[in-house]
Amino acid sequence: MLEDKNQARTSLSELGEFGLINHITKHFTLKQTSTVKGIGDDAAVLEASEQQTLITTDLLVEGVHFDLSYMPLKHLGYKSVMVNLSDVYAMNGSAEQITVSIAVSNRFPLEAIEELYAGIQLACETYGVDLIGGDTTSSTKGILISVTAIGKVNKEDVVYRSGAKDTDLIVVSGDLGGAYLGLQVLEREKQVFQVNPNNQPDLDNYSYIIERQLKPEARKDIPKLLQELGVKPTAMIDISDGLSSEIMHICSQSKVGCKIYEDKIPLDPQVISTCEEFDIDSTMVALSGGEDYELLFTVSIDDYDKIKANPHLTVVGHITEQAAGMNLVTRANQEIELKAQGWNALQS
Ligand code: ADP
Ligand code: MG
Repeated sequence: MLEDKNQARTSLSELGEFGLINHITKHFTLKQTSTVKGIGDDAAVLEASEQQTLITTDLLVEGVHFDLSYMPLKHLGYKSVMVNLSDVYAMNGSAEQITVSIAVSNRFPLEAIEELYAGIQLACETYGVDLIGGDTTSSTKGILISVTAIGKVNKEDVVYRSGAKDTDLIVVSGDLGGAYLGLQVLEREKQVFQVNPNNQPDLDNYSYIIERQLKPEARKDIPKLLQELGVKPTAMIDISDGLSSEIMHICSQSKVGCKIYEDKIPLDPQVISTCEEFDIDSTMVALSGGEDYELLFTVSIDDYDKIKANPHLTVVGHITEQAAGMNLVTRANQEIELKAQGWNALQS
């Protein structure tokens, strides 16, 4: 959290734009056969294929989407790739390339940009995607990162948000709420640190949820798993804003309703214990906390046997006809209407 005064600081202006681009991208290697030409010309060149192409972009702005006082730049680089790969996997596709554009103020030394790109490179290597280009410019204040991911999907495999049908089961991968709670812990520690910089935080009890916030993993394994199980989801979306708002996207685009069962929502034990400590409702956190990057999808009830025992997947409810609305069935067996509050609703 502390800025190390002894750390080397090479000013970006010493290198110039081209020197910087060359410096930060020279360690990247290309692995995808579809990448014909990566960085270094006016445009990258990709080989066309029989499959359909997926393209998705996210823009992350300092002070809006991340806070560098607790987000190390390496993690930021990694996460900015993850949020895009997650969108490709949510279409039931595979990711092959990314571009990365950055705007940085001269408050950042070269070493900071190296850290950012170390995270981007780790993400590229771990997920097998090629960095094929981008743009670099200056900003008057702060840092801004835009990543575009390019992927592929067989025409018959693509899954939209709009295909859910009455009686379909609603399934989530992994567990929910951790990333939001990790952020709460980090923000609390930041405030403690501001009051007393000598206070070293003990974060052992929060390791899982902090990792969920700082180093999320996109669920590359889920489209593959579904293929192995012989299941094609009827609709799918990634959970960036909380279960509630994502299921509402599926319902509105599919013109259906839903029932989510509170007691079925998958929660890590650390989420439960931290919710108790912070005195927040864990269901609320799962429904409205953001940034878990799990996948939410619907499958035909005929596929239940194929998914039921899988440790990565949890059935949390089912689709209904639209007129029944979108509801949460509580542990007390009461039905309450779901609201797409997003995680700002938790900030009261
Ligand atoms: P142009 O003037 O044609 O926009 P640039 O000088 O901006 O070209 O970029 C030169 C090469 O470096 C291009 O291949 C571009 O895609 C790549 N590039 C520029 N900035 C970045 C970046 N931040 N990350 C990755 N590649 C980059
Ligand atoms: Mg350019």
